[in-house]
Amino acid sequence: MKSKDVKEQDQHYIVGTYGRNDLCIVKGQGSTCYSAEGDEYIDFSSGIGVNSLGFANHEWVEAITKQAGTMQHISNLFYTAPCAELAEGMIKKSAMEKVFFANSGAEANEGAIKTARKYSYKKYGPDRYEIITLVNSFHGRTMAAITATGQEAYHKDFYPFVDGFLYAKANDLADVRKKITKRTCGIMMELVQGEGGVVVLDQQFVAGVADICKEQDILLIIDEVQTGVGRTGTFLACEQFGLEPDLVTVAKGLGGGLPIGGILFGKKTADVLQPGDHGTTFGGNPVVCAGGILVLNKMDEHFLEEVSQKGFYIKKKLEDMPGVAGVSGLGLMLGVALSGEKTAKEVVAEAMEKGLILLTAKEKVRLLPPLNISREEIDKGLHILEAVLNNEK
Ligand SMILES: *Cc1c(COP(=O)(O)O)cnc(C)c1O
Repeated sequence: MKSKDVKEQDQHYIVGTYGRNDLCIVKGQGSTCYSAEGDEYIDFSSGIGVNSLGFANHEWVEAITKQAGTMQHISNLFYTAPCAELAEGMIKKSAMEKVFFANSGAEANEGAIKTARKYSYKKYGPDRYEIITLVNSFHGRTMAAITATGQEAYHKDFYPFVDGFLYAKANDLADVRKKITKRTCGIMMELVQGEGGVVVLDQQFVAGVADICKEQDILLIIDEVQTGVGRTGTFLACEQFGLEPDLVTVAKGLGGGLPIGGILFGKKTADVLQPGDHGTTFGGNPVVCAGGILVLNKMDEHFLEEVSQKGFYIKKKLEDMPGVAGVSGLGLMLGVALSGEKTAKEVVAEAMEKGLILLTAKEKVRLLPPLNISREEIDKGLHILEAVLNNEK
C-alpha cells in the first residue's frame, strides 16, 4: 500500500481529530524511519517523546516479545513480576515512595488530581478541593485534564468542565499567591511547558511555589509526562530544580513506545489511595512493563549524561543557524524560536520533504529526538534543518 491509499482509507473510517502529515511511515531502526514509498527520514520527534530508545531497539523488542509469548495480560487481581520490577526501578531512580500504573499521561494526571483531592478531603473536609495550574500548560484530553490545561483553545465545546480549577501565570509568584485561598488543595505544573512552547520555568519561581505548598500543606503535583524518564538529562526534571514533590506523573517515554502512564507518590501521598479508590484494567500490563524495565535499565548515569551532552551540542549548532532567534529547553527537549520569514509549520513541512521529521510547539519548532540518537543521525538531521533555514533547494 502507498501513503495515499492509507490516507484515503484512514480518512474514510477514522474521525478527523488529527492534522496528520501526508505520509505513511511503515518501519524504522534507530532514529531513522521509512515511508511506504521507501523514502528515508531522520526522526527528531520520537513519536512525540515516546520512542525513547528509537525504532525497534533490539533489546527492547526482545524484552516485550518474550513477555508477550509468556503472558500478555492477567489483570490487577494478581501480582505480576514485570509490574513490580518496573515499580522498584522507578522508585530507586527517583525521590518518590510508591507508584500507580495507568495507560496515558492524561490518565496519570486524573489519578494525581484524585489523590490531591482525597488527601485534602480526609484532612480538611469537603471545601478544600481547588487545584491551581498554570496558564499555557498542557495536561491531557480527558475532562479533568483539559480543565487543568490552562489554554483557552481547549476550553470550548465540551461544557460543563470540572469544577475547582484556577490558572496562575507561569513565573509569577504573586499571581500564584493571589489564586491561593483556603479552598486550595493542589498546585499542578510542568517544569518545562511542552505543548505550550518548550518554556522552562524559572528556578526561583518553582522554589517559591514549592515553599508555599510546604507551608500551607498544599500538594505539589509535577506533570513530567513529557519531561520525565530521562528526556531532560536527569531521570526526572525535578532533580534539576531540587524538588521533591508530593505527586509526579510520567507517561510518554516510559514504555519506549508502548502505552503506559505512572503516578509517583511522595511521603505525604503514598498511603492516600486505598483498596477500591482507583484502578484501570490495562494498568501495569506485563508486556508494557517489560518494555519499561528495559528503558529504565538503559538509563544509567552515562546514558543520562549523553542526553545532556547531545542536548548542548544540538542547541549550540541550532544557535549558529540562520533565522534562529533562540533555543529553549533542557536535554533533548528543545524549542527553536524563529526570526526568519518562515513559520514553524512551514519549516516542519519543508524539513519533512527533505527527510527530517520535526514537531512544532506553538510558534516554535520543537525537537524531541530519541534519547539514544546517534551523533551521525543528529548531524544528518541538523544538516537538513540548516538547508531549510538557508532556503537551499
Ligand atoms: C502529552 C502530555 C500529556 C497527555 O498525555 P497523553 O498520554 O496524551 O494523555 C499530559 N501532560 C503533558 C505535559 C504532556 O506533554
